[in-house]
Amino acid sequence: LSDKLNAVFKRLKARGKLKESDIKEVMREVRLALLEADVNYKVTKDFVAAVSERAVGSEVLESLTPAQQVIKIVKDEMTALMGSENVRVRFSNRLPTILMMCGLQGSGKTTHCAKLAKYFKSQGKRPLLVACDVYRPAAIKQLQVVGEQVGVPVFEMGQGDPVEIARRAIMRAKDHGDDLVILDTAGRLHVDEQLMEELTRIKETVGPHEILLVVDAMTGQDAVNVAKAFDERLDISGVILTKLDGDTRGGAALSVRAVTGKPIKFVGVGERLDQLEAFYPDRMASRILGMGDVLTLVEKAQDAVDEKKAEALAQKMRKNAFTLTDLLDQMKQIQGMGPLGQVLGMIPGVKVNDEDAQRGEKEMKKMEAIIFSMTPAERDKPSIIDPKRKRRIAAGSGTRVEDVNRILRQFEQMQKMMKTLNSKKGRGMFGRGAL
Ligand code: GDP
Ligand code: MG
Repeated sequence: LSDKLNAVFKRLKARGKLKESDIKEVMREVRLALLEADVNYKVTKDFVAAVSERAVGSEVLESLTPAQQVIKIVKDEMTALMGSENVRVRFSNRLPTILMMCGLQGSGKTTHCAKLAKYFKSQGKRPLLVACDVYRPAAIKQLQVVGEQVGVPVFEMGQGDPVEIARRAIMRAKDHGDDLVILDTAGRLHVDEQLMEELTRIKETVGPHEILLVVDAMTGQDAVNVAKAFDERLDISGVILTKLDGDTRGGAALSVRAVTGKPIKFVGVGERLDQLEAFYPDRMASRILGMGDVLTLVEKAQDAVDEKKAEALAQKMRKNAFTLTDLLDQMKQIQGMGPLGQVLGMIPGVKVNDEDAQRGEKEMKKMEAIIFSMTPAERDKPSIIDPKRKRRIAAGSGTRVEDVNRILRQFEQMQKMMKTLNSKKGRGMFGRGAL
């Protein structure tokens, strides 16, 4: 898909202005590319219509070339189609929260039960995995193996009645203070009545807070039909799209949400139990389009950075006159561009996980508070900050003296780095527009 679209965009870039006939031609290619990637026919049709309408009606933005503009519109619409935002798992106030996993055989249910257990365990939950796939002894064993790998207990009663097993597991969770129960259920090769009946019985008996359907992204169009069938019977609350690591087919991601109206909550990107990611529609759209979100980055940067200020800053950097006040300014500009994780994620080749992004954001807030608690004289000349001043700054910013020390050390390193960069042909580095 990506290669195809890239070829189309390249051709578009080669031209000057965007005419209605251009849009038509481009959209015909986009349509073919989507269909080839197994995107549902109706979804494709709606998508193309929405994009064309916006492209034709939109004014030509000065900052963007016509080609960039179409890319942006295609991406925006793709993002909208996938639901715009990440939808989290809902936790219940009454413990335990019950997640019921369902899906066809081989879709990745058992693997993703363990991935979720690991994911939520790292967030402080106490998960319990439950073996409700009772038809093959190997299925129970598999859950035990992955459960052990992630250090989460597995409840099983051999090949008993799955409804009863689920019920008992919840009782055990209440006794042991496990606050998250994850039910691994049976699958079939195809959607069939017997399976649906069993899943419905489990649902009615235990009342899960979330029913997550696991679908294999590599099955393309089939994934959409499966999602539709499960949703009609079970009223699922979300989807986990697995095996998004191999083939780059974005088709399933695009249509599943549109067809079922249910959000994709996670994606599986490999066999390893840590290869699970929260689903972000905009990132997925970027991935499908096969480019880092460079365009948005440029756009946001233009909004956030006052050009004159940037130029003054670049001058200062060249002269090694960069102060803590400038650092503060710069941090504000970065924050103005949006959540840190999102900003970093727009740089091609950079991957940030949520934890790192959140940590970075916290660290930035701390840094900001510390610099705010300094006097202007201290900001311009940090060398005057003695232990007594450090204590005052720490108290003023609600941090510890160690934090103040760390920030000062980091700042010193930054200054050193700039000196080095400036002495080796650093000019271009901090020149206009380099950011
Ligand atoms: P289940 O029958 O639905 O329980 O599926 P399993 O969890 O047993 O997974 C079936 C196969 O798919 C296993 O070999 C898994 O290792 C593999 N698998 C599951 N998720 C992913 C994924 O995200 N990426 C890749 N490459 N393989 C996966
Ligand atoms: Mg299984």
